[in-house]
Amino acid sequence: MSERSSSVPAVSLRGLTKSYGSGDVAPAVAGIDLEIRDGEFFSLLGPSGSGKTTTLRMIAGFEAPTSGQIWLHGEDVTTKPPFDRDVNTVFQDYALFPHMTVAENIAYGLEVRRVPAAERAVRVQEALRMVRLEGYDERRPAQLSGGQRQRVALARALVNRPRVLLLDEPLGALDLKLREEMQVELKAIQAAVGITFVYVTHDQQEALTMSDRLAVFHRGSIVQVGAPAEVYEHPATAFVAGFVGNSNIYPDESARRSFGARGRIAIRPERIRLDKPDDLVAADEGSALGTIASVVFLGAETRYKIALDTGDDLMVAQLNLKESPMESHSAIGRRVRVTWRREHLLSLAENPQAAPA
Ligand code: ADP
Ligand code: MG
Repeated sequence: MSERSSSVPAVSLRGLTKSYGSGDVAPAVAGIDLEIRDGEFFSLLGPSGSGKTTTLRMIAGFEAPTSGQIWLHGEDVTTKPPFDRDVNTVFQDYALFPHMTVAENIAYGLEVRRVPAAERAVRVQEALRMVRLEGYDERRPAQLSGGQRQRVALARALVNRPRVLLLDEPLGALDLKLREEMQVELKAIQAAVGITFVYVTHDQQEALTMSDRLAVFHRGSIVQVGAPAEVYEHPATAFVAGFVGNSNIYPDESARRSFGARGRIAIRPERIRLDKPDDLVAADEGSALGTIASVVFLGAETRYKIALDTGDDLMVAQLNLKESPMESHSAIGRRVRVTWRREHLLSLAENPQAAPA
């Protein structure tokens, strides 16, 4: 990689805005600034309607921005048509041509661009290898599983050798188990080919698993950008704390009376220890007394709702290392001490725009 390709962002969005409606409708994308590095697996994460697809479509060139700019690898492409941009898109409803073989489906884009037959054949084989579908050339889409069809859709985009691949909820149509397998596989493919992936998802687990970095979208704005662990451990706002992972979120008043903290705070359910009422508390820990109000057994872990004596509720997640579900259920009504390390109380920015939806 040259100096230039590593330091110039693959994608740079500057004050990017898209309004579909008249003035009184909030813009779908409201002035976002974002830099995506070359070779990064970058996710746009947010709830439905937060502006992810609109942003992706503007990067692809399918949608013109109302204002702002799009730069790809140091070039302003804001007014360029899709075919003049070094990007390709994989959609959720990846329609393959049913009457064509896998190889013909993958070769289609090359044929349109009049790539000679010999080179087409080489590149189709290369693309099939990338998605680990060697030997599937002559199959038809109906003879493939959902995961294999998705990989053909990916091969069809990769065969064009774009520098940036845009993916809009590509695993949304797959069932949970297959989706989790494909998450691992997509990430491995991306790492192997080294192409920048811009990946749209509303699934926080998916974004945390796959991304080098991610941007959290809320109502057309980006509220936080960072590596998964950063965003998870240090959510910038109450919205992020609630949307990325589970959190207990407390306004000022509750934060003060239950946690002795100032300002709005959050704490992750898995950061809290469930002890007996007279168990000890260390110097760097905070603690409160309460009663177990409900229990949800989730297999690997159990979630307890604790009614604190201060009047606030607290969700606590415990890994089921020893306790069986029967024992968990008999816990309702038990008096407990909840204990947390003070460093695990997350202070949240004051931002009325960022209240949980
Ligand atoms: P996401 O992908 O995060 O679910 P979208 O970018 O699809 O969000 O949508 C953002 C907002 O823009 C939503 O309020 C949506 O209704 C609106 N929107 C999207 N596409 C159009 C369109 N073609 N015409 C009018 N409004 C649209
Ligand atoms: Mg969308």
